[in-house]
Amino acid sequence: MQKPRPFIGIIGAGPAGLTAAYLLSNAGLKLVIFEIEEHCVGGISRTVMYKGYRFDIGGHRFFSKSQEVEDLWTEILPDDFLTRERISRIYYKGKFYSYPLDAAEVIDNIGKRQAALTFASYLKAKLFQISSPNNLEDWLTQKFGGRLYRMFFKSYTEKVWGMPCKEISADWAAQRIKGLSLSKVVRNALFSANFMDLGKGKNRSKVIKTLITSFRYPRLGPGMLWEAAADKIQDGGGTIQMGTRVIGIERKESGMWQVEFECNAVINKVEVDHLISSAPLGWLIQTIHPNLPAEALEAAASLSYRDFLTVALIVRPSVSFPDNWIYIHDPELKVGRIQNFANWSPEMVPDPAMACYGMEYFTSTDEPFWKQTDAELISLATQELEILRLVQPGDVVDGAVVRQSKAYPVYDDNYSACRNILQETIKKHCLNLHVVGRNGMHQYNNQDHSMMTAMLTVKNILADEQKYDVWKVNQDAEYLESDSKNES
Ligand SMILES: Cc1cc2nc3c(=O)[nH]c(=O)nc-3n(C[C@H](O)[C@H](O)[C@H](O)COP(=O)(O)OP(=O)(O)OC[C@H]3O[C@@H](n4cnc5c(N)ncnc54)[C@H](O)[C@@H]3O)c2cc1C
Repeated sequence: MQKPRPFIGIIGAGPAGLTAAYLLSNAGLKLVIFEIEEHCVGGISRTVMYKGYRFDIGGHRFFSKSQEVEDLWTEILPDDFLTRERISRIYYKGKFYSYPLDAAEVIDNIGKRQAALTFASYLKAKLFQISSPNNLEDWLTQKFGGRLYRMFFKSYTEKVWGMPCKEISADWAAQRIKGLSLSKVVRNALFSANFMDLGKGKNRSKVIKTLITSFRYPRLGPGMLWEAAADKIQDGGGTIQMGTRVIGIERKESGMWQVEFECNAVINKVEVDHLISSAPLGWLIQTIHPNLPAEALEAAASLSYRDFLTVALIVRPSVSFPDNWIYIHDPELKVGRIQNFANWSPEMVPDPAMACYGMEYFTSTDEPFWKQTDAELISLATQELEILRLVQPGDVVDGAVVRQSKAYPVYDDNYSACRNILQETIKKHCLNLHVVGRNGMHQYNNQDHSMMTAMLTVKNILADEQKYDVWKVNQDAEYLESDSKNES
């Protein structure tokens, strides 16, 4: 007799949860998604709208080394992707540097003497290698030399993480900028068109993501893709329960998972055969009943996050701002990055004479900065934009603030050991519970990696066996990015 088709519960309507639901509904499975947000799908990849102006929670580039992910984006949103040329710069000590770097411009900005010292510091780092650097400062200094590290990595990275590079695990760099080297940066600066050519037959997996010169973007922002995915899931019979917070998860003796959820102050329960979670891993482990072993609860409690807020300023521009985004390395300014959303897609602003600049601040919910009023934050962001001379006084006409907690899973000294404990605990005690995505796995995943973990999870569920190891996605940078037949 054929086994009945399983019923799947999914926590979160972000990229990971929606990808899983989309593929499961295509395969004819019954599913329900629980999402805290009342109206907006997409999680951190949503698009927020304020008085007709649209903006991202941090500009979201669509680029994947995996053709399978790229194809899925196209399948979900066939007619609305733009291909954008990237223009981005770094602001450091009062000067703008193109990024990816332009060697001649760097020499021009810092002068020939500084350039020679910078190159000497690079050679020194290459001659006196640290055997196995385990913190970010050592990793980057070894790779680029102390001077380049201080100019182009230190201050920005410390703004993002809110801690010294000495205390950040080298895993982060190994994951994010693996493959990047000075020679590749220089080669890219000299031959960028050929180096980044992604034409047919070219190997996407060899591309250095941080240097890509073009990317795709939905014409109404990333939320447009996720709204289309949500519509298709519902058309296929899937249920998305918005405004619904999962508050309890219980392992039943039958092997099913009971999910307790709250919607409009009413609490309900449902049993599912498989539970897919993109909610923060630490929370998940602490929510499961009966309690998981004390060691796992302790590891779960020690995972930490970095929070993020964006101040979207509505501007009547009188100064040229050709970039998609600018990194602000200068430690004197609190802002970390600035997005110019009309340059991502002209349809992000309702009036072509206007602009919307996303001033991005990396912070923590327990810092006083997070608790400042919207008016205070808009005033600070406006001042900083004026200091940068990207606007003149009077250009900023309005603004809105969006706070995003748990934007970044933190990679401190502890995280890797804790995550290993949780990974083993799930394998041992939680059959048919699948963790996916960014916070879901406490992994610095972009949309494509978050989606890939969901895609592999669905393959595992449909095959009724653990064919693929989702923990390898984005750990081993090439895992499944070039060849989807690669199994665990
Ligand atoms: C500043 C910034 C810039 C970025 N730029 C890019 C980029 O350029 N390109 C790119 O590809 N990626 C980018 N990313 C990464 C991208 O946002 C994430 O990879 C992606 O959103 C992760 O998807 P996810 O589904 O795993 O998690 P999320 O997007 O976090 O979605 C999880 C969902 O689960 C819901 N949820 C959580 N707990 C519960 C609960 N108890 N009950 C019900 N629902 C719950 C949340 O409300 C949320 O909607 C960026 C991220 C940041 C912070």
